[in-house]
Amino acid sequence: MKVTTSFLELREARESLKATVGLVPTMGFLHEGHLSLVRAARQECSSVVVTIFVNPAQFGPAEDLSRYPRDLERDLSLLKKENVDLVWAPPTETLYPADFQTWVDLEKVSKPLEGAMRPGHFKGVATIVAKLFNAIQPQKAFFGQKDAQQAAVIRQMVKDLNYPIEVIICPIAREGDGLAMSSRNVYLQPAERQAATVLSRALFAIRQAFEDGERDAGQLKQIMQTIFNQEPLARVQYISCADPVTLQELESIENQALFSVAVFIGNTRLIDNMLVP
Ligand code: AMP
Repeated sequence: MKVTTSFLELREARESLKATVGLVPTMGFLHEGHLSLVRAARQECSSVVVTIFVNPAQFGPAEDLSRYPRDLERDLSLLKKENVDLVWAPPTETLYPADFQTWVDLEKVSKPLEGAMRPGHFKGVATIVAKLFNAIQPQKAFFGQKDAQQAAVIRQMVKDLNYPIEVIICPIAREGDGLAMSSRNVYLQPAERQAATVLSRALFAIRQAFEDGERDAGQLKQIMQTIFNQEPLARVQYISCADPVTLQELESIENQALFSVAVFIGNTRLIDNMLVP
């Protein structure tokens, strides 16, 4: 496994990779969710490139950039076990030099939900993913359904900018008790960790209600709200039932709906979602 922080070395190493090249972009502090993407890439591609970069452009001024968890040594040993070919972990100056001024900003799909709660977040995400696509030129790129709106933003960007890249979205990896895996779960104190299962419990309840025939978005969201109300450590930021492609809110479910939630458990902001059916 070749590991580099340098852009020139990355380009050199990229030249000798056999097609199909699969890219898995990450911010590091890897868990089984990230590794499930790496395994999917390993299975579908001849060469696997993983990037580790905590992208400052996608963090708001009051967010957790400086305390975002990092452990490069551990990440590299996990990636080595997965037979990754190339890891690029560039320093911030390489991707955002002092005179940086070109951004990728989507007009619609990036605006509701996470976009509304975290202004500028998807401008940072789309820009860094475009830069990684340009630097690595993969044929396939792997992202997680955990960040459902991010997946929609990237699909739209690939279409709009004519990237010849197939975007593959992998299912949400969960802990045994349902909590969606996230690097941010380490912020949770023990009682909060327990309370955090309320997100997946609420989403699983929705799926059950849908299977029992409920199609009204308002009713389904109310079921989730009731479950959150029973968890004193949870503070709901939004509960959404939206079209999975446009992220526009739905009133009733005709085809497929994306239920997504953002909830503070103590000071930690968690997101989770479920596609129904
Ligand atoms: P991050 O390091 O949080 O930027 O995540 C890197 C990639 O891993 C993104 O495409 C995420 O959607 C994906 N990812 C993060 N957590 C999970 C999870 N629990 N299951 C599946 N994919 C995930």
